[in-house]
Amino acid sequence: MSKYHNSLGLHDLMFKRIFSSHNALISSAICDSFVLYKRISEQYVNKDILEYIRTLIPEVIVRKTRIEIEDKGCLKSVLQWFKKDFMQWVPRDQKCESCNLLMSFHSVKGNSWKVRNTERYKCNNCHSVQTFPRYGNIQRIAETRTGRCSEWSMLFGAMLNSMSIKTRIVHDYLDHCWNESLINGKWMHVDSTLDYPISFDHPYYYEQNWGKKYRYVLAFSSNILEDVTTRYTQQWDIVQQRRKNSPKSIEEYAANYSKI
Ligand SMILES: [Zn+2]
Repeated sequence: MSKYHNSLGLHDLMFKRIFSSHNALISSAICDSFVLYKRISEQYVNKDILEYIRTLIPEVIVRKTRIEIEDKGCLKSVLQWFKKDFMQWVPRDQKCESCNLLMSFHSVKGNSWKVRNTERYKCNNCHSVQTFPRYGNIQRIAETRTGRCSEWSMLFGAMLNSMSIKTRIVHDYLDHCWNESLINGKWMHVDSTLDYPISFDHPYYYEQNWGKKYRYVLAFSSNILEDVTTRYTQQWDIVQQRRKNSPKSIEEYAANYSKI
């Protein structure tokens, strides 16, 4: 048994076995993502974690958010505060602080969903090194206040849940993730990485502006997983065609989500 397996929980391991036994084309990355989002969703209902996360949000933002939801059924202040005042974006191209030269990059695989992998940047001139651990542990993300769309959406979802706004994490199985919040009984698109008002209730934004070619857009909760693709596409016929020509592994994992 490798270190990697030892560090996974029993359920994670069982989940991997279910598939490795009958699916030779198992995609480890997809499997890891299901485990990750399940663990994120469990943190979204963990009282201790939410209590801590709640302390990070200024009271004035909490108050404004309550009023906005009640009056307009939208989120604005908390989205703006999170993007402008709280989080920092980690660019893919890192420059050395002393030499101002582009650093070389490699990724070291982590040993569980808690540290998915660590990005390591090295300056070839002065040999200084910078690291960026990709955490799945929400408290760690909140301490570092840095990341890309996955860290942003994982933490922002926890912030909304900490204010009793039911929120889940959404992944497009291309290269982006965001959130959905249950507002007035309806799941709304929420993307803390974008500028308001695009960050709220603009579900077709990615397809229209980034040319997204979806197969699956999935929304994760602690106990269920929902295929929400139709909410994000105006080209459902084309998406269905794409699904016919793609491996079935996502559907298989999805069908077994409760076992993770
Ligand atoms: Zn340097």
